[in-house]
Parts: sequence; structure tokens; C-alpha cells
Amino acid sequence: MEKHISVCPYCGSGCKLALLVENDKVVGAEALDGVTNQGELCLKGWYGWDFINDTKILTPRLKKPMIRRTRDADFEAVSWDEAIAFAAGRLSEIKKKHGPDSIMLTGSSRGTGNESNYVAQKFARAVIGTNNIDCCARVCHGPSVAGLMVTLGNGAMSNSICEIEDTDCILCFGYNAADSHPIVARRILKAKEKGAKVITCDPRFIETARISDQWLQLNNGSNMALVNAFANVLITEGLYDAEYVANNTEGFEEYKKTVAKYTPEYVEEITGLKAEEIRRAMRTYASAKTATILWGMGVTQWGQAVDVVKGLSGLALLTGNLGKPNVGVGPVRGQNNVQGACDMGALPNVFPGYYYVTDPEARAKFAKAWGVASLPDKVGMSITDVPHAAEEGKLKAMYIFGEDPAQTEPDLAAVRKGFEALELIIVQDIFMTKTAMFADVILPATSWGEHDGIFSSADRGFQRFYKAVNAKGDVKHDWEIYGLMAKAMGYDGIDYHSTEEIWNELISLCHLYTGATFEKLAGLGYIQWPCPDESHPGTPWLYAGDKFQTQSGKGLLFASEWRPPLEKVDAEYPLGLCTVREVGHYSCRSMTGNCAALTTLADEPGYVTMNPIDADKLGIKDQQLVWVASRRGKVIARAMVTERTNVGVVYMTYQWWIGACNELTVHHVDPISKTPEYKYSAVKVEKIADQ
Ligand code: SF4
Repeated sequence: MEKHISVCPYCGSGCKLALLVENDKVVGAEALDGVTNQGELCLKGWYGWDFINDTKILTPRLKKPMIRRTRDADFEAVSWDEAIAFAAGRLSEIKKKHGPDSIMLTGSSRGTGNESNYVAQKFARAVIGTNNIDCCARVCHGPSVAGLMVTLGNGAMSNSICEIEDTDCILCFGYNAADSHPIVARRILKAKEKGAKVITCDPRFIETARISDQWLQLNNGSNMALVNAFANVLITEGLYDAEYVANNTEGFEEYKKTVAKYTPEYVEEITGLKAEEIRRAMRTYASAKTATILWGMGVTQWGQAVDVVKGLSGLALLTGNLGKPNVGVGPVRGQNNVQGACDMGALPNVFPGYYYVTDPEARAKFAKAWGVASLPDKVGMSITDVPHAAEEGKLKAMYIFGEDPAQTEPDLAAVRKGFEALELIIVQDIFMTKTAMFADVILPATSWGEHDGIFSSADRGFQRFYKAVNAKGDVKHDWEIYGLMAKAMGYDGIDYHSTEEIWNELISLCHLYTGATFEKLAGLGYIQWPCPDESHPGTPWLYAGDKFQTQSGKGLLFASEWRPPLEKVDAEYPLGLCTVREVGHYSCRSMTGNCAALTTLADEPGYVTMNPIDADKLGIKDQQLVWVASRRGKVIARAMVTERTNVGVVYMTYQWWIGACNELTVHHVDPISKTPEYKYSAVKVEKIADQ
């Protein structure tokens, strides 16, 4: 049996594993001693590999290029030459007729790798001539990047995953580690075993709440009010580090004025928390020698998410919990390479290495390196702009790479309508996803396990993963497909022969990554950017010497007034709906839904968890099938009645084809990051008669 070093393709924890191979077939996985996982894996790491072998449990692997000559026609398998000529020809026509900004592209945060994302954004900018490229960060940690860039000058986790267990206090805010990053949850547990205080802010009694010293069961949609009240306590009780604030921050006076009204007593009604609970939490946080704030989608998937991120970084700034080990701010990134897709510039406002597209110097540098006369200077479209832009006729084509917006975006009926309005949809993927069903061209790619590359874990750690088996179909590496498309459109600058060649080009252009060479990353190598030169070991924690990466070098204190969620419950739709995670599955489920062991743990139809008080009122019993409806749609689901869920709000995960809760969610986005408010829509739940 062969063993090939890899990195788990599911969450941002970055667990190293070995793929076990017999006769060119993956037959198992085992944990390796990686920096973040140290010989441990969660169930997805252990059992999440057999989709590579085309199990066809949920959907088949794509094995041949396909086109549809008209929207009414069936898919037709064609040669690569014909598929590329068809896709490139149609894209060129649209570009010529409607301009480059009529085309939208995506990066991919799944098992594709940084090199393919680098090439995808290069194709968007140098070949199409648009900054219309985005990735799933838009629908998860976009607000963390936007908020932290403003307050600290860097949108990533300030400290490392492995430091979590050595902190003295963890404030888990809207972060269900056990379901989203089980290996990070292990670190929280280890911290607790070593004596750390754990404070959890979450409306549900999640696993972290179970081991917490304090569980703040705040009302859904009250994050900003609570964060402001936390700041109010730190200031009014003199718990903040006045000297640190004076020397290392700016904006304190304005910040103080805004949070002054948010006394713990004032926010009692908004948050549903007792003033004394809020005070106690901040006394614990401020008195710890080192304290870490971790957050997840419970912070970012709200219409006021960027403000809350700024508020959370404000708590760290007030208490001086930055710029040293075991402290910091931790937006724990979701998909395995969502950090990488951002690092590679698969975003509408930045090039690889976070150089702004609006910066003429950066544009000139990349244009020269890529051999083009100029690069677009206007910030591109976000993926959440697509349905409206398509319907308005501003957008004519989409090139979707390893994403499934027909399953993962909010208000799916609007997404489908947007797709139908487009003239061309190109899908580059490994599975026949819901999105692929809308495609005019399908370009089949190699899967994780069939190619090599580098991922970025949630804490900025680059890691190499290796090819384990040969691809079985007539498929190509993502970066090769972009090369063929580029050539067909008249550009020769994507003519690579290996991921190493691509990586070398990338690191030569980005000062943050220059020292993270392929050689240094070999085997179990782990380098956290910034890594500015070859002798540099990488940076486990940012802001040494309390130097922030803002223009002034100081951290910005910023507070906003609280805004409630957009949609209100009423007599017709009396319950809130919050979308959450299923531990056994990942994202749109195209990968984990094709893994035999994982489907036995949880399968369709999706479930809706609700409190017994709500269930009793509606005459609903545990495990009964129910209808869940919002103003936008209606889906069938299985009721899961549990006291862990708060009264008045139901919870669904978004992976299921039957019970797809994004049929129900509202398209309301944060005004800065354009991240949808997945965490609150008004719904009704009805039992299905005669069960
Ligand atoms: Fe590790 Fe995340 Fe994979 Fe689980 S899903 S093994 S925590 S990387």
C-alpha cells in the first residue's frame, strides 16, 4: 500500500493526512503529525476520501467535457478541443459585444489549491480584463477580512490554531467549533483542560457552551448590541489597558461616545441577557493574562457583520490582546482553502498578496509580470451581486470554478432566475452539481487526490499536498484548463507545466509570500505568511511590537449603532430561521455526499431543529416530516426537536438537495462586505398531515 501526503480538503483547520492507495485507487486515510492536527483527524478527515472513486451516491463525477448548443438541448460529450473552442469563442463574443465587465468568474475554495486560484484570477484580469472574480469568502468570512483590514490592517487570523490551547481565556462568539472545525474544537477543549476560562456567546447550547465557564445565550441578531456592551463594561469599569490604548490605537474618544449608551442594562432587552452576565464575561476576559477571541458564521452572516468584526477587534485592542503569542482575533475560516482563494486574489478588490486593484503601482507591477498593457482598475462585482446584475442585463456570462451557487447562495429562486438570464454559463468542476445543470459548457477537472498543490489553512499556513492517484476520466488540472482557454482567447501567459512553476511566479510577485518556497513546504512543512524572504521561518502571530498594518501603524477603535435583522417575524411567518453546519458534511455536499460513511451519519432530507416549546405549539413530534416555508419558498424537512435550540428560532443546514434551506433565506447583505444575512429569515413550520 502506498501512502501519499495530503491535507484534508474540508475545513480550514489544515489537518495533514496520508491517502492510502492500492492499485491506483484510494482505499483509506490516516492522520499525520501536521502542525495543526498533530496526529488527529475528525470524521471528515478519516472518511471523506471515497468521492474520488466516483461512488455516484449523490451525483456522478464529471469525466468528459460537455456542451449544450442551445438551452433546450441535452448535454453532449465533446472533445477538449471542441469544448474549449466553444467556451472561448462564446466568451470572446460576449467580451467584444458587452465588454469585459459583463463576465463574472469565481475562484474555488475547495480541494483545488492556491495555484489554480492564482491562475483563475490571472485569467479574469489579464485575459478577460475584469476584476469580476469572487469566491465563497463572500458568503462566509468576507466581513472578517473587510473589518479587520480597517481596524488592524490584515484580514486574517492574528494568531495560530495551535496557540489556542495555551491561552488563558477564549471568547467564542458565534462560533460552533465542534461542527465547523472539530480539530480547533479539540484545541479549545485542551485549553479548558489546562485551566483556561471559556465564554461562549451563542443562542444555541452548542458543544462549546457545554464546556464553557459562561454561556451567554444572546438573542439572534443582537451581536452588535452585545459587543458594544462588552466595550462599555471594559471602559466604564476601568478594565481596559489605558496605556496600551493611548500608545497603540486611534479613535478611542469617538468609540467611547458610541458605546456609552450600550450599558449592560440598556442591552438587556435587545440581547435577552442579564446585565450581570455581561459584566461577568468582560471581567473574566479582561483579567486573563492572555485572551483569544474566536468567531465564525454566527458573526459574519448578518447584515451588520463588518461592524461586529470591527467591534470584536476593538475588544482585543482595548485589552492589549494582540501582538504576542496566545492572544488575538480569530476569524476561523470555513472551507479548506478559502483563506488561500483570498490569498491568491480571487476577490474583486485585490490581486494576489492583497495588493489593491485600485493601486496604480500594483497594477503596473502585475501588468508587467503578466505581459499585458494594462489591468482593470475598477473594483469588480461580488458573487452576491450576480442575480440582480444578470436580471438587469449587466452581466451576460459566468465562468464558475468549483463553486455551487445554485445550492449555497441565498434565495435560490432568484439565483436560478439570474442564471436563466445569462447568455453563457461555463462550469469547471469535478461533480454534476446543481449549478452544473445550468451550464452551457462543462469542463471536467481533476479532484483533490488527483493533483498536487498548496493550500492555506485558516491561520495563514501554507501546506503542500500531493497527488495520490491518476485521474480516471478525460479530465484536466484546473490550471491546465485555464491555460487552454487563455490560448484560445489569444493569450500565452498561462502556459504552465507544473504547480511549482505557478507557485514560483506567485511568490516572486508577493512580498508576503516570497520566502515560502516549494522546497521549504515539502513533506509536512508549514509556513505562515508573512514570510518575506527565504531565511524567514514564517509568522505564527502578527503585529509584533504592536505595529499594526494600517496606514498609521495603529489599531483603529470603531463602534457602530446596533441594527436589528432585516426580516421580521409576524403572524404568518412567526419563527426565525438560522442556517448552521452539519458536522458530517461539507459545503454544497458534492464531495461528502459521495462518501459512503458520511452519508450513513446524515442524509436527506435535511432536518430542521426546533425547541420543544415551539414543536408542541405546532403539534410536531421529533423526526416528523414538516414543511418549512418563507416568503420566498417552501421545502420539506425532518423535525429534530431539541432543547439545545432556543425558543422562537429554527435551525437548518444548507447542504441538502431535499430540504435546501437556501430556498428560504433572504437576499439581504452587509452593505460593506455584501455577505448575506443567512442567519435570519422569517419562516413558518407546518406538520405534514397523515404521518
Ligand atoms: Fe481536520 Fe477540518 Fe478535515 Fe476535520 S474537516 S479532518 S477538522 S481539516
